[in-house]
Amino acid sequence: MDKEELQSHLQARYKDIKKPELKAVIRIQDEILSALRDHLRSVGFIEILAPIIGPVTDPGIRGASQVSFDYYGTQFKIMSSMILYKQMAGNSFDKVFALSPNIRLEPEVTRETGRHLSEFRQLDLEIANASYFDAMTIGEQMVTKVVERVKINCADDLEALHRDLKIPKPPFKKVTHNDAIELLMKKGFQLNKGEEIPWSAETALSKSFGDFLWLIDYPKTARGFYDREDEDRPGILRDFDLFYPEGYGKAISGGEREYEYEKVAGRILSSGELPEAYKWYLQMLKEGTTPSAGFGIGVERLTRYICGKEYIWEAVPFPKVPGIVSP
Ligand code: ASP
Ligand code: MG
Repeated sequence: MDKEELQSHLQARYKDIKKPELKAVIRIQDEILSALRDHLRSVGFIEILAPIIGPVTDPGIRGASQVSFDYYGTQFKIMSSMILYKQMAGNSFDKVFALSPNIRLEPEVTRETGRHLSEFRQLDLEIANASYFDAMTIGEQMVTKVVERVKINCADDLEALHRDLKIPKPPFKKVTHNDAIELLMKKGFQLNKGEEIPWSAETALSKSFGDFLWLIDYPKTARGFYDREDEDRPGILRDFDLFYPEGYGKAISGGEREYEYEKVAGRILSSGELPEAYKWYLQMLKEGTTPSAGFGIGVERLTRYICGKEYIWEAVPFPKVPGIVSP
């Protein structure tokens, strides 16, 4: 579909939402949401309410723009993720999660990836005193539980969508960012070692493995200031992404947090940002913050994978696709 066709299609969402196909997706999404919450509570997490606006938000959003607005004379942001706040909550609770909308004005080219929205919901979680390996264990168990539950409770809807969904088998394979780049270069992709992997290559990676796949140890140059640098391997971050099988691309992004004031302040500066904007956050770190690890998972992408949909706008009731004006 070209831009005009997609725009008029999405303008008429009030028609689509009555169709059995979209209704099946929305019912499955309901099951996904309760499975996520039930599972996390059963392993000791508590749910907290995330803010939607604040003086500063997640800067690690890979080429997307943030939305700013005037808040009683001060510039405020709409959350691109609540990452800074879950670190704050990690000072009080060992395991927290929040499920909240995020706004990231993605470049229009991302319409072609099938997996970018400018408004999406993210389940963010954070674990005090945990390593990135602990966080990956939580992530793979959570995803597996959700798939198991959907297969049991939504068998009819999955069948109506002709979706033959495999139950994942944790622990998932882990490949370093460096090895993934080498592998992709052998497949003919032109890549640079210090950079994020482009979307087309991510899709190829996700297609070439039979199951979920962790990519770990991203280079410092590819990520935001909050992913922790390995003390013994300068330039390498203790972080990860999880990829869906079958070419569905990235599922989870997370890592250990940089929590020491000096390091964070330095990284904010070297990433070209204004430390002044992160005032409350830096002050919190200065006074001592609990080390933690965590991740975020996009609910619409999880729904898209589970339902086997080509486009992410098929996996959300009221989609906002980059560049498209729709209800
Ligand atoms: N919320 C973060 C993000 O959106 C994920 C994380 O590192 O926890 O990238
Ligand atoms: Mg991030």
